[in-house]
Amino acid sequence: MLRLDHPMTPHIFRASGLMDGVMVRGQNMSVSPSAVRAELLAECLPLFTEMREVAWMWFADEVPFILAAVDEYEAAIRALAGLHGGQITEDRRDGKGACPVCGTPITYYRKWKIVLCGECDKPFMAAHSKLDSSEGFSTWLI
Ligand SMILES: [Zn+2]
Repeated sequence: MLRLDHPMTPHIFRASGLMDGVMVRGQNMSVSPSAVRAELLAECLPLFTEMREVAWMWFADEVPFILAAVDEYEAAIRALAGLHGGQITEDRRDGKGACPVCGTPITYYRKWKIVLCGECDKPFMAAHSKLDSSEGFSTWLI
């Protein structure tokens, strides 16, 4: 549990907001046509930049680990955006059917209105988990 009076708390919340901003877009990308993926990627890039700035400013001890994880996250999101050579026309944001890329049934968490391909999301979620850890932004504390 994060202590709300700890001096690092605002920075951990900021990092969490940036990470979630990318994660939500990544999940959305994994069920969207390529044109939408490209738009979502463009929205993610400044979030990665800000993650790196937050790391340099407030997470000095964790900087090497965090920067490597952010690089991994960005590479995974770029790969997701460019899957099938940017030729994906299928739209699975309705939560129905299977992923046009990997064939995995689409996951739809109705309660949270979250639609995603669990298989295509694995590479970026691996990087997300690293940032979430104590070696990263420690957002697991929230
Ligand atoms: Zn997939």
